[in-house]
Amino acid sequence: MDELKRRLETYRKLGLKLTPQRLAILEYLENTREHPSAEDIYNALKERFPSMSFATVYNTLEVLVERGLVKELGIDPSKKRFDSFTHPHHHFICRKCGKILDVERNFDITIPAELSDCEVTNFQVVFEGLCRDCKKTD
Ligand code: ZN
Ligand code: MN
Repeated sequence: MDELKRRLETYRKLGLKLTPQRLAILEYLENTREHPSAEDIYNALKERFPSMSFATVYNTLEVLVERGLVKELGIDPSKKRFDSFTHPHHHFICRKCGKILDVERNFDITIPAELSDCEVTNFQVVFEGLCRDCKKTD
């Protein structure tokens, strides 16, 4: 199945109205490892879709997050960032330029005693600091 057909099928399963804008948003997210914000996505696509509003991008992202196709990251204090890479992984965020990098390794952690009566289903490690580029110029 080619990429477009797969994307169409995904939207159909979600019961979402298929619009070229929505397809482009999903395509954009699947093809970047940059963890874009809603603004980044809007700016990247507005030339191709001059009539698309920021609200369309935002609402589409909300639906994609709700249906588990995209993850919303709360690690950037200035704005929500989005990740189409939904399998469990960890992140590094540069505190100067805001770049987010994937950290794909397993950390062996022990569930802390104070959570023993909770059901822990996930955890995320967030590394913070300066990325390679910002470290050079700091
Ligand atoms: Zn940086
Ligand atoms: Mn990621």
